Amino acid sequence: MSNTDNATHVPASYVTTYCNHAHRMSDGKPLGHECYILPPEALAAERRGDYEKGIALLQAAKPMRTHKGVRELKTFKLVWSPTGQTIATGIKAVTKRSAIRQAPAPYSKALGEIYATEE
Ligand SMILES: [Zn+2]
Repeated sequence: MSNTDNATHVPASYVTTYCNHAHRMSDGKPLGHECYILPPEALAAERRGDYEKGIALLQAAKPMRTHKGVRELKTFKLVWSPTGQTIATGIKAVTKRSAIRQAPAPYSKALGEIYATEE
């Protein structure tokens, strides 16, 4: 996963043994799956290898709220299909469709002629 914070190289998310899926380090919300919002301190403790502390923090946090899952942003490149020309790069979006909707003018007038590929 390339989900890193450039400044500090602290991962933005962590795959916890709690559910074997990624949770966001900043607020404990589940990424791409429905789950409990886990205490960020518990994720941090587990990431350090301090599982006992992590479990203790999880138990202290009960009852926890559920969350439907934060959808992960992907990075897309937009291509103008009549010419194959790249018209935008680094477009952050959840889906190709939403990436295409961010096309710059004048291409934004003909969204049907644009396709998106993941970078
Ligand atoms: Zn989870």
